[in-house]
Amino acid sequence: MKKLSFILALLAAPCAFAADVKLELTGNDQMQFNTKALEVTTGDKVTLSFNHIGKLPVVAMGHNVVILKPGTVIPAFSAKCAPAKDFGYIPQDAESKAAIVAHTKLVGGGESDSITFTAGEPGAYPFVCTFPGHFAIMQGVLTVK
Ligand code: ZN
Repeated sequence: MKKLSFILALLAAPCAFAADVKLELTGNDQMQFNTKALEVTTGDKVTLSFNHIGKLPVVAMGHNVVILKPGTVIPAFSAKCAPAKDFGYIPQDAESKAAIVAHTKLVGGGESDSITFTAGEPGAYPFVCTFPGHFAIMQGVLTVK
């Protein structure tokens, strides 16, 4: 039995450095994410599932999750999102695109989307919903340790 435990420990060892991590986030009709703090470890392969648990349609209460690089100034970034309606409020200019780590599509009540990305260097990565007017409340921080 002791020998088996040793072998299992060896098999599990690489997972201590980079793991498959699943995160779940929801948004509702009250314009809120269910959490403002997410945490992963650098190198993790992260799958983030986003569920809109409200009932309102995407045109009235659309939500997305846009994960930004550390240091991104959210009000300035969000100002560029509002005119990008045809792109799900994802700005298409080079500077904004460079600031985005990953993003879901824009979803309405009852819809969901999931994204997969590799956690970068340790730091505080802001995440926001870029539907017009939502960023002030719908924002949080993904901490990469
Ligand atoms: Zn929203």
